[in-house]
Amino acid sequence: MAKFGETTLEINLSALSHNFQYLKSKIASGTKFMAVVKAGGYGSDMVAIAQKLEALGADYLAVAYTKEGVALREAGITLPILVLHPQPIHFKSLIAHQLEPSLYSKRILEGFVDALKKLEKESYPVQLKFNTGLNRLGFHEEELDWVLNAVQSNPEIKVSYILSHLAASEDENERDFSQNQIDTFLRISDRWKETLGKLPGRHMLNTSGIINFSSAQFDMVRSGIGLYGYGNTPEEDKALIPIARLQTVISQIHQVSAGESVGYNRAFISEQPKTTATLPLGHADGISRQYGQGKGYVYIHRQKAPIIGNVCMDMIIVDITLIDCKEGDPVTFYGPNASADAFAATGDTISYELLTAISNRVTRVVVP
Ligand SMILES: *Cc1c(COP(=O)(O)O)cnc(C)c1O
Repeated sequence: MAKFGETTLEINLSALSHNFQYLKSKIASGTKFMAVVKAGGYGSDMVAIAQKLEALGADYLAVAYTKEGVALREAGITLPILVLHPQPIHFKSLIAHQLEPSLYSKRILEGFVDALKKLEKESYPVQLKFNTGLNRLGFHEEELDWVLNAVQSNPEIKVSYILSHLAASEDENERDFSQNQIDTFLRISDRWKETLGKLPGRHMLNTSGIINFSSAQFDMVRSGIGLYGYGNTPEEDKALIPIARLQTVISQIHQVSAGESVGYNRAFISEQPKTTATLPLGHADGISRQYGQGKGYVYIHRQKAPIIGNVCMDMIIVDITLIDCKEGDPVTFYGPNASADAFAATGDTISYELLTAISNRVTRVVVP
């Protein structure tokens, strides 16, 4: 572990490369790979991640919002980029940056066709999202006739792919539900083919889908969390390497006597003499208050130091009574040997939320 002297998110591109190759080994050689880099590359460094994935041979990138796709284009990324959740206010910018929208409703499809008409564009690549059970975004199966008619009557758009998204791909108890989603997508595909003669490409699986529903790969898979080193099962976690390590340093050490309190609202009262360390990161850096009060812990020289009292905006205080350490020593929150999943669980959340919460003021250091 490199020592940086401040709160730092270290991002390891060789771990990313390992995870990419591992996930590729789980899909057929003809299946394309869409790398999901939304939310700053799951809280890491979106541009550095996208550049590496482009060099590694990813086929597509996906972001949530238009703004994220624009940032990738401005950084020189030339791969096709899917915008999963575009808004009409950004259609002009989306088109100007050659991004592909996921069109998920009548309003969005019609709005996009209008934007293309104004710009006199034809055969612009778009993807169509179908809701097969997640009930979040997408056309319903009952709207398929309308969709097929819209595709036939609007030469401004050319459908490159149709897609859907599983609601519980990581949950073995919901296998039947997931299979039902896949069956619905297949029915939609069949009717598409009957009506229009030929099918666009298709994709449906996220990281856990790649692992659990291999037969539904279709033409492409979409992976996010797996690339960043988390697999939603212990076996996958063993095979993947977390790419990000959140670390900091000890700012100050205090001796606290029995009966004294620590931190805001006197949330921790010491029953016996304790040694505490104050760390320079808090809820404004992405470690929220839910990890306080003894729930979350950090590693100092590989030993666990629990967070005591309330998490402050810019500071956290940990109990180091049993740890031999000094001011300036390094501290790890999560990383390759300290699972972000396990840390997230102490705050009743999941790695996805913890990773993407790390704010911009935390210095990113990208290592090859
Ligand atoms: C974020 C997202 C993904 C990536 O999911 P992971 O579980 O991180 O692999 C895939 N598809 C859609 C539609 C998403 O929103």
